[in-house]
Amino acid sequence: MLEQYFDLSPETAALIRAVEKEISFDTIEKIAQVNQWKVLRAFQKNRVSAAHLSGTTGYGYDDIGRDTLDRVFADAFGAQDALVRPQIVSGTHALTIGLFGLLRKGDTLISATGKPYDTLEEVIGIRGEGNGSLKDFGVRYEQVELLADGSPDLAGIRAAARKGPKLMTLQRSCGYDWRSSLSVEKIAEIIGIIKGESPKTLVMVDNCYGEFAETREPCEVGADLMVGSLIKNPGGGLAPMGGYLAGTKEAVELCAYRLTCPGVGRECGASLETNRMLYQGFFMAPHVVKEALKGAKLAAAVFERLGFSVNPAPDAARTDIIQAIRFGSAEGLKAFCQGIQAGAPIDAFVTPEPWDMPGYENQVIMAAGAFVGGASIELSADAPMKEPYIAYMQGGLVYEQVKAGIAIAVENLRKKKLVSF
Ligand SMILES: *Cc1c(COP(=O)(O)O)cnc(C)c1O
Repeated sequence: MLEQYFDLSPETAALIRAVEKEISFDTIEKIAQVNQWKVLRAFQKNRVSAAHLSGTTGYGYDDIGRDTLDRVFADAFGAQDALVRPQIVSGTHALTIGLFGLLRKGDTLISATGKPYDTLEEVIGIRGEGNGSLKDFGVRYEQVELLADGSPDLAGIRAAARKGPKLMTLQRSCGYDWRSSLSVEKIAEIIGIIKGESPKTLVMVDNCYGEFAETREPCEVGADLMVGSLIKNPGGGLAPMGGYLAGTKEAVELCAYRLTCPGVGRECGASLETNRMLYQGFFMAPHVVKEALKGAKLAAAVFERLGFSVNPAPDAARTDIIQAIRFGSAEGLKAFCQGIQAGAPIDAFVTPEPWDMPGYENQVIMAAGAFVGGASIELSADAPMKEPYIAYMQGGLVYEQVKAGIAIAVENLRKKKLVSF
């Protein structure tokens, strides 16, 4: 009887029902169970109390809420230390703090997983000039290309590590690329190779979209630093902004000096009224990630059934919340994104169109109807407008809503005769 709410055809409603019946969420539930207890224990261990939920103003000295939240993140993520700040404006900013925190003039940075996320190209200096990139500051950059199948080139990584670079970076999630994301097990293997060749080389993991998708995080398998955005997984949909860096004491301290100023470091930065939302969001995060993973799995199964290539496959082990679907046509991609938008609680009435997004090379179409601006832990879909027209869908605070978005998208494709069933 669900079809009545969104003008779904009986065929679309039946398809979604049938696919849902065939898939199992057991693994996803088990992972969430472990992560929820991990987070709960981190709260308890650090004696979080009501006093931590309110914040400071001005310089933000002695902000016990902020400082304790750093400890909660560190403990839940198996890191020695962490910085969790509303002043970090995005994932790109958090990654930039990590890169500039650890690298100095004359150092070499090597990406072990091919080209970095689009927005980092200008940070590193692959694109653009004179804007204060790492390159402008005398940091050299190289990358180890992925193999033809999109997997990391372990021999190439070994050879690169042998040169003894200051820092090597790994990107856990596929981002806007049709490749497998890196499991934490694979990250452990790569870190083993790097440290085996060059113990002094630091390893930083771009952990965006990965938090709580597995029971371990990169810091638990030897990463010196891992970095992410609070408007993705670890904000649990409640964090209104922010980012985090977690890792070794030394790495986090260097990042703190870049976050604010040398000397001042982590001692400053008022939390205003954000502490409660960051705490509550982190507490909710394992559960919210579970909802998103269930939605991603349903999408994979539904669109695979309709004949599209999907990545990851419905039954594949997941290490991030991204679900890629290859539509093969601009119309299919747009119909999908417009369907996802029509399933949103906010701005469901707008029709997304491709636009020139700052920091990205191609035009991008985005479906996003979020309570928090641009939050991609909320159901959203992004896609660069280029062959072969792949949509990257992620997020969903509530599985039942993700299901609505998927159903409306399928109905949209069906109405436009882009699928038949
Ligand atoms: C989202 C993301 C980023 C950048 O985060 P923004 O908040 O969009 O700046 C970097 N790397 C990966 C893998 C991401 O998914």
